[in-house]
Amino acid sequence: CGIVGYTGHQQAVPVLIDGLRRLEYRGYDSAGIVVPENGGLTVQKRAGTLDVLVQALCDCRFTATSGIGHTRWATHGAPTDVNAHPHTDCSGRLAVVHNGIIENYHRLRSWLKAEGHVFRSDTDTEVLPHLIEQFYRGNLYQAVLEALERVEGSFALLALTVDEPERLVTARQDSPLVIGVGERENFIASDIPALLAHTRDTYLLNDGELAEVTPDGVRISDFHGRPLAREIFQVHWEA
Ligand code: GLU
Repeated sequence: CGIVGYTGHQQAVPVLIDGLRRLEYRGYDSAGIVVPENGGLTVQKRAGTLDVLVQALCDCRFTATSGIGHTRWATHGAPTDVNAHPHTDCSGRLAVVHNGIIENYHRLRSWLKAEGHVFRSDTDTEVLPHLIEQFYRGNLYQAVLEALERVEGSFALLALTVDEPERLVTARQDSPLVIGVGERENFIASDIPALLAHTRDTYLLNDGELAEVTPDGVRISDFHGRPLAREIFQVHWEA
């Protein structure tokens, strides 16, 4: 399973697909991507191999310069198209990919349903976009912080909203995540090999850390929003 994200000046879709290919060694049963296009989100996700996803993308013309992608190793819910990530909120304007397990998803889902959220998949992950939507008031970073106060479990997660299309928010607890630093572009991935085609400058995220990533910057903090300084880690080895 794996996660990739991109925000910058290149077309996002080929960068995302290439990143997911380099994470295939981690194993997966489904794959998907989402990009902001024409004022909305375009989601494509499929059970099966990356080639199945690429086939499905074939007819679409993409211009988006940001997006997120995922390969899934199902833990909650069968490996179907509907259960594949990304998962979206009720408005369809916010999407999340996730590796790991949300341990308290049952309780969160009951509460969110009572708040009027409608669920479409059988996954634990789907509580994340709905929970973030519940707290979203124009600032994705703030909404993810508030959502994380309620979440128990393991996760590498990555969120995107069409209302702030260049901003990605990512968080880590017991599941790997690295950020690749480029020139007016930044990358997110589960592992370094997915970044090496683009950059050797990385920030390694630790458990309990969150990052807001735009084309021009990376801001790292803890789950209370306290800023954290981070040195660039330069990768010298070959993939
Ligand atoms: N628990 C999530 C699911 O089953 C994520 C699985 C993964 O790590 O890929 O959808």
